[in-house]
Amino acid sequence: MTDDRLPKTLFSRIIDGEIPGEFVYQDDDLVAIRDINPAAPVHVLVIPRRPIPSLKELTAEDAELVGRLLLAAAEIARQEGIAEDGYRVVINTGAAGGQTVPHLHVHLLGGAQMHGHGVA
Ligand code: AMP
Repeated sequence: MTDDRLPKTLFSRIIDGEIPGEFVYQDDDLVAIRDINPAAPVHVLVIPRRPIPSLKELTAEDAELVGRLLLAAAEIARQEGIAEDGYRVVINTGAAGGQTVPHLHVHLLGGAQMHGHGVA
């Protein structure tokens, strides 16, 4: 359920077709789009349609949704041909976590060797 009084998130506007996005996956609860500023040869964002702000707001009731989010990321990795070599899945959370869009999303990154995890 969405609250019409709140401004829509960027990803809700893409999901609703108000802003273009390159969709690579869609189901009743999730979508996946290519990141507009890719950090790797394959950079896909897997996004719940419901605009949960971040990982911090999840509750036990969301356990199935989160599981499906990760399963979708793994399936898209297979579709994109990066599953065999390996890939990275990242959920930036909050300001210090580098989150810029307050709508939960999983980054799927692959197609090149990943390095590092930290502040650099
Ligand atoms: P985060 O920094 O984890 O919140 O990730 C937000 C991501 O959204 C960044 O990697 C951006 O490049 C990406 N992004 C921003 N605007 C768009 C857009 N219009 N279409 C697709 N991806 C976008």
